[in-house]
Parts: sequence; structure tokens; C-alpha cells
Amino acid sequence: MKTKYKAIRKSAFMSFKHCNKQFEYLYNDPKYWDYGTKEGETDIKKKRGNEYHNAMETFFDQVIKIENFSKYFMRLALPNTDDETLNRYFDWTVEIEWKRYTELENKDNWNPIANELKIYMKDLVIDRTGHVDRIDIIPGTKNLMIVEYKAGRSYDMEKADRITSMNAEIGWYVQILNAVKEYPEYKITHWKVINPEIQKVWINKISPISLKSVEKTYSTMVNMIIKGLKFPKNVGPLCDYCAYLEECDPYYEDDSVVDFGKAI
Ligand code: SF4
Repeated sequence: MKTKYKAIRKSAFMSFKHCNKQFEYLYNDPKYWDYGTKEGETDIKKKRGNEYHNAMETFFDQVIKIENFSKYFMRLALPNTDDETLNRYFDWTVEIEWKRYTELENKDNWNPIANELKIYMKDLVIDRTGHVDRIDIIPGTKNLMIVEYKAGRSYDMEKADRITSMNAEIGWYVQILNAVKEYPEYKITHWKVINPEIQKVWINKISPISLKSVEKTYSTMVNMIIKGLKFPKNVGPLCDYCAYLEECDPYYEDDSVVDFGKAI
């Protein structure tokens, strides 16, 4: 049965976790599905991040076609651009991917099981959707690792709030992948973040607590949407970076409640 509600995107879920009101704006935004696309064209950091994602999407497909597998040819499978920062991203990525390749006993495991995978889960009231950058098989196991590319200094997993937010983001994907039984023979057990800006890689185990927390937040969201409850503001320093700052006027306490049933 088709519901009247739009599917909840991972970015909307994350905005709800940060500020309920921001989610309300985003969910009602006519550009909900394209949200962030314009910034990706004009903001140099976002543009760079998008180009990195695009290059990585084709990287593995191109590299496995190379007969003379070497670090040199691996670099050729990534672009050389006019942007020196982006070239630095690619040089470093080759270093870490080459190291991963040389350390593997079974070289077939180097190629990801999924690359830029769009995922969608039918849910009872409101569906869920997301986009996973990459999924690797953990060598010698039947376990999987979700890999995310996060370019930018702010994505430093050594900061406590970043780990929490990454657990939520990955938890969202895991719940969808498990529900749709995308990989029935495998278990998703880890996540890895690759940040070419600060040249770091983090690997973390997925905890059942973070998956439970995703479900709890999702239920709260759905309940608030279908009952038309008030979405409180979370006023803080991040308001300055919020796309809805002007409409929101964070220091003004408003009592308006959006009827999602009518608004969508
Ligand atoms: S400006 Fe601040 S309070 Fe308002 S929606 Fe954005 S994050 Fe929330």
C-alpha cells in the first residue's frame, strides 16, 4: 500500500537527530529530494566531495580491468584535475588502497561487494531510503563493512560527537539493508570512514545499541509526523550553518505546528 508520506532520507533522519525543527523544514521543502545538490555545484568543498565520490564510484570498475595491476596504474584509474587538493585526495587514496591490496591474501576481496548503492525499505507508515558509498567484504569472514567517504576537516572521528553521528548514519543503512535482506549470506558488522582531507581512516564495530537507537528515533519521528506534533528547535552554534536559519529565526519561540498530512 502506498502511503501519503514521502520516504525518509538518511539526511532527513540525521537532521531530525540534530534539530527536530530543521527536519520539519527539510521534510516540507519542495526541493526535499534535491536538497544539497545546488550547494554541491557552488560550494568548493562540497563540489570537491562530490567529485571524489564520483571518481571513487568508477575507480574499482576501472582498476579491475587493468592487467598489469600496480600502484601506478591504480593512480591512472583516478582523475588528474586542475584542483591540487583533489589530486592530493586521489594520490593518498591510491596509497591506502594499494596497501589494502598488497596485504590481502585473496585479491578478489579487494573489490567491494557494492559501490554507490541506493537502498530503499518499505515501511508500515513511512518508507526509508539512503545511499551507501561502498560495502567491503571483511577478508576471511562472512562479515561486511560499510565504507563512507567523508572529505572535510569537520569529519574527524576522534571527536566524540562525530562517532555518535556516524553510528546513527551507519545504523540507518544497516537497518534498511537487513530489512530488505540485501546480503542474506553476510552480516554487517563494521563501518569504515575514509577522509582524504585529513588523510585518516577509522574502522569501528557496529553496536546493537546504535541500531536500537535508530529504531527509537525513527518511531519518534513517525509518531510526530502522523500526529502533527510540534517540532522543537535546537538552538545552538550550528544554527549559523542551517539552511533554514532565515525562516526559522531560532531565537523566536513560535507555536506553529505543521500538518504533514496537508503539507505533503
Ligand atoms: S536555525 Fe537552528 S533551531 Fe532553527 S531549524 Fe536550523 S538548526 Fe534548528
